[in-house]
Amino acid sequence: VFALPVAAYMLQEQEAHAAEMERTFIAIKPDGVQRGLISEIISRFERKGFKLVAIKILVPSKEFAQQHYDDLKERPFFSGLCEFLSSGPVVAMVWEGEGVIKYGRKLIGATDPQKSEPGTIRGDLAVVVGRNIIHGSDGPETAKNEINLWFKPQELVSYTSNAEKWIYG
Ligand code: ADP
Repeated sequence: VFALPVAAYMLQEQEAHAAEMERTFIAIKPDGVQRGLISEIISRFERKGFKLVAIKILVPSKEFAQQHYDDLKERPFFSGLCEFLSSGPVVAMVWEGEGVIKYGRKLIGATDPQKSEPGTIRGDLAVVVGRNIIHGSDGPETAKNEINLWFKPQELVSYTSNAEKWIYG
């Protein structure tokens, strides 16, 4: 008698949970890769409870870097920044979870590592703004655009992790 309402309730819960799921674009820049920080950075997102849905390693071209940082093209550091992003391998990722865009930025810390709190990725692992090891989308619109720029739709993997019921209840 109770099986159906309970099942329906659980389905509603799952649907509500699915509706709140967000995705963000995270990149480990060439300095993070060269310094051997890939696993350290991935583990911080993974341990939090966020889910990795896409990952690849590539050396972006200068033109691609310019496209990625198009919003900053008027800034004096733009050219150096694009030169740097294209100077070596970058690990490009998409992470999924409730509030992952905003909380991902919290995990990363302030743009200038001198102003990042200890406990954040940049606070713990970087010293200067020009070598701040990681990029993360700064809002839902940017996240969508950056995911589309770096990944083809078929490179994103939708799956249910068995841990989700322990992370979200
Ligand atoms: P964030 O990466 O935190 O979103 P921004 O979008 O403002 O920060 O800047 C993009 C990147 O440009 C920064 O992560 C950093 O690598 C670089 N950058 C920002 N400000 C400076 C600066 N004053 N000098 C050199 N590089 C900078």
